[in-house]
Amino acid sequence: MPELVDLHTHSNASDGSLTPREVVRLAKDRGLVALALTDHDTIDGLEEAMAAGDEFGVEVIPGVEISAKHPGGSMHILGYFLDRRSRSLAERLAVLQQARKDRNPQIIAKLNALGIPLTLEQVAAISGGGQMGRPHIARALYEAGYVSSLQAAFDLYLNNRGKAYVGKFRFPPAEAIAMIREAGGIPVLAHPFTLNHHTPEELRALLSQLQNLGLQGVECYYPEHTPEQEAVYVRLAGELGLLVTGGSDFHGDNKPEVVLGRVNIQAKLTYELVAHLKARRG
Ligand code: AMP
Ligand code: FE
Ligand code: FE
Ligand code: ZN
Repeated sequence: MPELVDLHTHSNASDGSLTPREVVRLAKDRGLVALALTDHDTIDGLEEAMAAGDEFGVEVIPGVEISAKHPGGSMHILGYFLDRRSRSLAERLAVLQQARKDRNPQIIAKLNALGIPLTLEQVAAISGGGQMGRPHIARALYEAGYVSSLQAAFDLYLNNRGKAYVGKFRFPPAEAIAMIREAGGIPVLAHPFTLNHHTPEELRALLSQLQNLGLQGVECYYPEHTPEQEAVYVRLAGELGLLVTGGSDFHGDNKPEVVLGRVNIQAKLTYELVAHLKARRG
């Protein structure tokens, strides 16, 4: 039996529905030996997750997922084995958190203008005290009966073609990578399919650029990757000497189709991925 892991998960410190401790406990219940908590733009859940790792006997890797600027698609950079006490990381994350605080009321205002009387307080109640984002607004819309599903909330209102969309400040890739490296972390490109690159050659060129900026790995195993995409990403990582990682992008009830520790039928998340990450630590 291989030892299974999950290197991409969210708690209610960002837009997951479970507390960091609950995510770690679920990992234990599912038989995982290691788990990275990679909340969007925040490390506020890490302390609780690490303590729960000790409590339940799961290796918890301190991580984060940072949104970077990428025209035409969405670029997320994962960071692994971060120093949670890094001052420079805290300062950069504070910039991103302020950008969210500025954006949420703007989205609500647009919804109000569309005749949907949702309030920031209703959304805050759903976010459970952690950082608030679009998934919480989606849930508020769903629970109030304005949409038939969370996905419909994104399709109609919240995604970048939605009627209440508001853009958000993002760091350029160089800065997202640098802030992870300055905190002693290993930067890894998350779910490459969201970049919307059309050919493997285009993606190879981008990966190579990011590698020159300090990128060290590619998240090849991911639930929404087709077997063909997965094979391309594994091949490119091998050719460029980048690490291969994988994760489920678990968000609890906020992404109910995702199973912790599981990506797809053909790919298994084994401890080998963690061993390779550890071997790259400086
Ligand atoms: P935010 O951090 O507020 O920009 O929200 C981003 C999060 O919303 C992502 O991490 C996903 O969890 C979710 N999300 C973004 N786009 C979509 C979409 N089109 N459909 C469903 N969920 C989405
Ligand atoms: Fe998310
Ligand atoms: Fe992501
Ligand atoms: Zn994620």
